[in-house]
Amino acid sequence: MTCNPSWHEIMDELLPHEEVQNKPDLIARVFHAKLTKLKKDIVQKKLFGKVAAYVYVIEFQKRGLPHVHFLIILDPRSKIRTSDQYDEHVYAEIPEQKTNPNLYEAVLKHMMHDPCGNDNLGNVCTRDGNCKNHYPRSFSETTSTGHNSYPIYRCRNDGKKYLVHRVQLDNRWVIPYNPYLLAKYDCHINVEVCSTIKAVKYLYKYIYKGRDLVVFALSNPDNISIGDEISSFQIARWISPPEAAWPIFRFPLNSIHPTLSLCK
Ligand SMILES: [Zn+2]
Repeated sequence: MTCNPSWHEIMDELLPHEEVQNKPDLIARVFHAKLTKLKKDIVQKKLFGKVAAYVYVIEFQKRGLPHVHFLIILDPRSKIRTSDQYDEHVYAEIPEQKTNPNLYEAVLKHMMHDPCGNDNLGNVCTRDGNCKNHYPRSFSETTSTGHNSYPIYRCRNDGKKYLVHRVQLDNRWVIPYNPYLLAKYDCHINVEVCSTIKAVKYLYKYIYKGRDLVVFALSNPDNISIGDEISSFQIARWISPPEAAWPIFRFPLNSIHPTLSLCK
């Protein structure tokens, strides 16, 4: 889930001359409140079923907006296994505008992968003219669970196209979402089911990935110089204002439940 700087809880608090990027305290507090609600929906209200364990990590994008990676492990009796169960929780299609106008708006606003590949070579996901996130996905009449991979969600070719950032996009560009969470939280909130061991291992690696930058030096082992450790640390440290505000409010950067302790 990524912070939406246009949430009314943020916009309502701005004075006429204020801009959201100058209110990191407000961004941090509203995102923390939304995350607390999300956790309640998932753990206490059992949106996906009974939760056996969870882990989440807060990260901050380069421009400073917070987002959370949230991995949920369901109780064996609540596991999502069949195609029908997948379809109940995860959608990868644009809903009907007439019957579901709010969700339709939310999908187009938050859940369409930006045009990329040869349509937009400048997009960060484009590598050698192709999308590294595999968009556009393939059309699929039904949901199927791949072997050691993410499932292929139902993504039917209904012939409809929608203008997003001046490019016509169809269902193949929809990032998987849960309709309840998307409609309720009005922000980018990607939901996927991973039930194969390979996908689970990948996710754990993802949520614990390290920093984007390191500073290092090669030196002669006979003449090792420690150098200026403080400036080396500062060069590799990028902290945006909302990231600085987060610990001031004593908000945790990660959480794991149940608590695990390693015994010798
Ligand atoms: Zn892409």
